Amino acid sequence: MTKATDFTHDAEAISWVESANGHPQFPVQNLPLGVFSANNGGEARGGMAIGDMILDLKEIAGLLEGDGASAARMAGEPTLNALLDQGPDLLTALRQGVFKLLTDKDKKDYVEPALHAAEDCHLHMPVTVGDYTDFYTGIHHATNIGSLFRPDNPLLPNYKYVPIGYHGRSSSIRLSGAEVKRPSGQKKPAEEGGKPGFGPSERLDYELEMGIWIGEGNALGEPIPIGEAERHIAGISILNDWSARDIQAWEYQPLGPFLAKNFHSTISPWIVTMDALAPFRAAQPARPDGDPAPLDYLFDEEDQENGAFGIVMDVYIATKQMRENGDEPHRLSTGPMTAMYWTAAQLVAHHSVGGCNLRSGDLLGTGTLTSGEEGGEGSLIELTEGGKSPLTLPNGETRTFLEDGDEVIMTARAQKDGFASIGLGECRAVIVG
Ligand code: MN
Repeated sequence: MTKATDFTHDAEAISWVESANGHPQFPVQNLPLGVFSANNGGEARGGMAIGDMILDLKEIAGLLEGDGASAARMAGEPTLNALLDQGPDLLTALRQGVFKLLTDKDKKDYVEPALHAAEDCHLHMPVTVGDYTDFYTGIHHATNIGSLFRPDNPLLPNYKYVPIGYHGRSSSIRLSGAEVKRPSGQKKPAEEGGKPGFGPSERLDYELEMGIWIGEGNALGEPIPIGEAERHIAGISILNDWSARDIQAWEYQPLGPFLAKNFHSTISPWIVTMDALAPFRAAQPARPDGDPAPLDYLFDEEDQENGAFGIVMDVYIATKQMRENGDEPHRLSTGPMTAMYWTAAQLVAHHSVGGCNLRSGDLLGTGTLTSGEEGGEGSLIELTEGGKSPLTLPNGETRTFLEDGDEVIMTARAQKDGFASIGLGECRAVIVG
């Protein structure tokens, strides 16, 4: 079941935290979870973003009741794994309790000491990521990439039955802002039968994805039924699955991506909860005529009606030269998260169907989300047709793949008439040689 809306989604609600009102990212209707430390001292601990401020959850635990108070106390840890593992009801209680505190002027004097200016804080990974799995749900991306790697056979016959994925690397996931070091590795020989090259990747790319955070885990051997899958998802963030295409082209057969994608992945710092996203849920787009229906374990009527997300994502580039000249970042693409061929719940049900246990803080990547419209390409390899058609930036610079000094910035935003729009923050990083 997807979450219902409640008083915390009231578009008219105002907070006494003035910067929150009309805030493009973090109005009081959002309240995303993260981990922060104040620059003037103090341990890393759980917080919620509210306008330009961060609320220290442990500090206000005494002002909450019942489950909300327990949740706030659990958020006092340097990672949120234990809190997320409690499941969705505790997160709902925490959100509702905090919303009441932040919208009630009479509570201001009690809550204010627990607020820190975000600019005076350092953000940390919100969870310890035990496992990271990257899927391939963007069917337009899968078709585009398939055409480049296998022109005669772009989409393999399993694609419409199996949510394709691979087990990624969790140790190299970093928060937005951390520099990305260009990887070296074996690169595809220039001609068929030749020797591979070795050296820094010359075809370094980004992938626009969303990250799905697992909340409550499941026991080994006990699959999560599709109808319960939503209750195991804590929230989502923006994910950049950096990819070295020349390394990928040489290594990906027969077992899939390895070093081409394990050197670094960037995640936005705030977990936007399933509660916050309740107003923005959307029907899963109908499959094209002729496509098979999902197998029973992947099909749930409620999930088909409500399992997608009405979120718009954008990718920007700011080269070193652009930043030095004070130029605005240039938008490379924009597109909806509904480009997913499979829903988040289907990914959870599929991942666990053989008995694999998911754990709190595990990360599932959606795969690159390309819209299928021009200007909706989620990676450079698509934008430049495999590097054959360089793109020209407004200042005259050209790019086929990323160069040292390039900064890639991803943003995402949930919008729906009648509701306050919320942002997912940003996922950015600079490439260094
Ligand atoms: Mn990917």
